[in-house]
Amino acid sequence: MLKILVTGATGRTGSLVVKKLQTQSNDFQVIGFGRSHEKVQQIFGTTKDFLIGDILSENDLEKAMEGCQTLIILTSATPQMKGIPQEGKRPEFEFPDHGTPEIVDWQGQKNQIDIAKEVGIKHIILVGSMGGTNPNHPLNSLGNGNILLWKRKAEEYLIGSGIDYTIIRAGGLLDKPDGRRELLVGKDDNFLNSPPDGVPTSIPRGDVANTVIAALTAPNARNKAFDLISKPEDFPHSEITKDWDKLFYQTTSSL
Ligand code: NAP
Repeated sequence: MLKILVTGATGRTGSLVVKKLQTQSNDFQVIGFGRSHEKVQQIFGTTKDFLIGDILSENDLEKAMEGCQTLIILTSATPQMKGIPQEGKRPEFEFPDHGTPEIVDWQGQKNQIDIAKEVGIKHIILVGSMGGTNPNHPLNSLGNGNILLWKRKAEEYLIGSGIDYTIIRAGGLLDKPDGRRELLVGKDDNFLNSPPDGVPTSIPRGDVANTVIAALTAPNARNKAFDLISKPEDFPHSEITKDWDKLFYQTTSSL
């Protein structure tokens, strides 16, 4: 049975991945890695099969990855609104002191990759974001964090690590039902540069979680990096994605 560590397990997408894996306990043993005991208890109703720690701590990661064959990285820096914006003004964002993209999306992800290599993890699935080819992407100016650039650097590091990888760069994440849409894969931010007709560059978090889980066992998802969006639900001539091999077959290995 595949033993899997999911980091960012209390995050909005990470928690979906953990919950979905928990329903497939014949095939997978899932361990969740979170920062807060209370948050784990609140989301999952139990703390069994969870480890509490920080991705900046090698010690915490070593303990969490013990005996695992696969690592799913769903940690990310999260910008916070700087107070309530004045009327007519745009909200401003900032990152907590120890939660900047450089610290979380670069040092934290690098740390996870280094420890994974040390303990013999065979496959890492990393969920990131589209937009990393454009240094002037508006997300980079949020809190002066250059978030997409640090995420991209971690992706490059993972590819160079020698561990099998699957890098999923999602479009804008939606909290909408999953399993009802046709998913589209791309590369080099082609969806952002020339969006397909009538298709927003977004995807439900649950569909990202389903893609992560399908990638655990699909040979065509190994050593691949791709952008991921979805057609809207009931989009004309669309076909709900069920054939994961067919989807992954269209992806490529380069960044
Ligand atoms: P999220 O809810 O913001 O979750 C991030 C997780 O990282 C949280 O669980 C957080 O822990 C954890 N974390 C942060 N710093 C940590 C540390 N030092 N040690 C341990 N854990 C730490 O994520 P999401 O919105 O589901 O997004 C998933 C991924 O998709 C991210 O990489 C995101 O950038 C990317 N993405 C997002 C969008 C979008 O529209 N938002 C679009 C495309 C791609 P806590 O739970 O304790 O806070």
